[in-house]
Amino acid sequence: MEQIADIQMVDLKKQYARIKSEIDQAVLDVIASSRYIKGPVVQAFEEELAHYLDVKHVIGCANGTDALQVALMALGLKPGDEVIVPSFTYVATAEVIALLGLTPVMIDVDPHHFNVTANLIRPAITPRTKAIVPVHLFGQTAPMEEIMDVATEHGLYVIEDNAQAIGADYTFSDGKSAKAGTIGHIGTTSFFPSKNLGCYGDGGAIFTNDDDLAANLKMIANHGQSKRYYHDRVGVNSRLDAMQAAILRVKLPHLDDYCARRRQVANAYTVLLETVDKIAPPQQVEYSSHVFHQFTMMVPAEDRSRLIDHLKQDGIPSMIYYPVPLYKQKAFVDHWPAGRELPITEQLCDTVMSLPIHTEMDEALVTYIGSSVLRYFS
Ligand SMILES: *Cc1c(COP(=O)(O)O)cnc(C)c1O
Repeated sequence: MEQIADIQMVDLKKQYARIKSEIDQAVLDVIASSRYIKGPVVQAFEEELAHYLDVKHVIGCANGTDALQVALMALGLKPGDEVIVPSFTYVATAEVIALLGLTPVMIDVDPHHFNVTANLIRPAITPRTKAIVPVHLFGQTAPMEEIMDVATEHGLYVIEDNAQAIGADYTFSDGKSAKAGTIGHIGTTSFFPSKNLGCYGDGGAIFTNDDDLAANLKMIANHGQSKRYYHDRVGVNSRLDAMQAAILRVKLPHLDDYCARRRQVANAYTVLLETVDKIAPPQQVEYSSHVFHQFTMMVPAEDRSRLIDHLKQDGIPSMIYYPVPLYKQKAFVDHWPAGRELPITEQLCDTVMSLPIHTEMDEALVTYIGSSVLRYFS
């Protein structure tokens, strides 16, 4: 097969080219307006995203990590309070917990969908537990209904880390549905360029249906300010730029289409790859749609690095999300008993790998990449 040039994990250049005139105009309009911080464009985006998510409040902030930090700060927790998080996630989720002097309690994830479940959460609950931060990893939600049930039973807050699953739909057992990130007390997201709804720099947002929490979140993100130059508490400076908001206003109407394209790519990969015994393509749960932030499959540990090299020779990038359990990161040694391991997290860190997936992939590219994987295993 002839090599395809310049394959990317995510192709932001081609995506921009399709919406260039609208984006350029939106950015120029912000520059001409001289309203660079807060202002009407940020407010309009917050309202449009709230409408899309069907959530009462959206508060823009500087990035997805800040979104998590501000969310935690709004809960009024005390040093030493425990917050349950998955051990198989991006570092930001646990980092902000430790940063605030809280104790991250890392738990294992389900081997099929890579997310936490009520059964995994329950044994980790102690009298000091105050909150749970489920992560909707790779684009599919954690089982929120059972997680909310456990939380209610024990009086815990739930913050959904929705950096990877914006646009996904969760279906409750009564048939009702809600957008990922709007089910817990607070939801957070990131607009990092490679996320499903990415801006052209850093950006993030916090969602909630609770008016009191919303007021608190807004205040914390703005120097703890209740009115200008009156500071009720110690906050942070975390703002979504007007220029980023303008870009996001152009991209938001495309989000469903972007998710659909990712789903098409994932389905095409799955059809090709499920013919190989040694590959476990991503499994889809019935309660959540999948927006495929990543296409993450499992391969035998002994094959993984050779497969990655094989793909590289065909010009195909791939990534390991995530190679090291959070509790094995040096940053968290104080939060974990030496030598203890969580078996599923260990297994996933040894066997997962992610193939390129983005909105600009055509069938030829999916076939090229899939065939290269098949050739390795043949
Ligand atoms: C990207 C990401 C974040 C952090 O977002 P930033 O905007 O990079 O700060 C947090 N949690 C998860 C799961 C992420 O994927």
